[in-house]
Amino acid sequence: MSEPYEPTTSAMSEPRLHLGCPSCGAQLVVEPALRTMRCPYCAAPSVVERPPVPGIPEPVFALGFALTHVAAREHVARWLKSRNPFTRSGIRSAEPGEVRGVYVPAYLYSVLAQTRFRASIGENYQEQETYTTTENGKTVTRTRTVTRTEWRSLGGELAGYVADVLVTASTGLRNDELEALEPFDLRGLARYTPALVSGWVAEEPSLTPAQCLAQARKEAEERVGERLGRFMPGDSHRELEHESRLEWEAVDMCLLPVWVLAVRYAEDAPPLRVLVNGQTGEVHGKAPLSVWKVTAAVLVVLLLVAVAWFLSQGGGR
Ligand SMILES: [Zn+2]
Repeated sequence: MSEPYEPTTSAMSEPRLHLGCPSCGAQLVVEPALRTMRCPYCAAPSVVERPPVPGIPEPVFALGFALTHVAAREHVARWLKSRNPFTRSGIRSAEPGEVRGVYVPAYLYSVLAQTRFRASIGENYQEQETYTTTENGKTVTRTRTVTRTEWRSLGGELAGYVADVLVTASTGLRNDELEALEPFDLRGLARYTPALVSGWVAEEPSLTPAQCLAQARKEAEERVGERLGRFMPGDSHRELEHESRLEWEAVDMCLLPVWVLAVRYAEDAPPLRVLVNGQTGEVHGKAPLSVWKVTAAVLVVLLLVAVAWFLSQGGGR
C-alpha cells in the first residue's frame, strides 16, 4: 500500500519492522501497521525486510511535524505551477501524488573553532592622474581622479563557537537536499522518545558516523570562512585562508520531519521527487528542463538575431 496516511497511535510494545531499500540504501524502521512496499525516498517498489543492525546510535533529539500532509501537498501544487516555462511538459499541470512523511536522521554538530587566518586586505584611495588625449586635433594634458587599492597582509587568530550544523545521516536524502530544506527551527527540538515518532516511518542512519562527522567538520570550517569574510577590515579582501583546530565537538543524532512526494508528470518518465520541510513548508525539487523547449527558444532567438542583422544590412528594402 502506498496511501498517504495520518499518524496513528499504535501500541508502543509492538515490535518495529526493519526495512531496507536496495535501490537507494534507505534503512527504514516502521511499525507493522505501516509496512510499506515502496521506498518513501526513491519510490522503488523493492523495499525488503532486513535484520536490525546492531550498534546503530539512537537519536538524541527529534523535531516534530508541524505541517499536515494536506498542507504539504498544497505547497507542492503551488510549487509545481510556479515552475518556469522551460520545464518538461506536464510538470506545471501535474498533480502531487503520494505523500509520505519520514523522520530523516541527521547529525546536529557544534564546535569551538580556534582559527588561524591570513588574508590580503585592500584599502582604497583616490589619486589625481594626468593623461594626454587628443582634442580638436591637438594633444592636450588633462587630470582625472582614479581609485586605487593598496594591499597589505593581515593574519591572526580567532576563536568562535559554530553551532547547529546539520548534516544528513541518510543515503536516501543527500546532504545538498537537506541544505535546500534548511533552516529548521531547532528551538522545537525535543528529547527523542519512541513515542514521538510513533505512527511514522523513521529511518536509521545509513551513513557511518565517520562520514557524517567529516561532512560536519567541513561545513563548520566553511561557516568559519563566511564569518571571517564578514569580519575582514578594509574595503575588500582576497586570498583569505584559514585553518581551524576544532575543540569541544558535540555531535547528536536527531530526526527531522520531511514530506516526500513522487510527482508523476509523464508516462515515460520516472516520477519527480519533491521534498517538503515538515516544519516550515519549504519545498525542494529539481524539475527537469525540456530539451525541445530550450532548443526551440534558442532557435527563435538566433532567428531574430539573423533577421535584425539582415534588416540592418538594408536587405529588408
Ligand atoms: Zn529507496
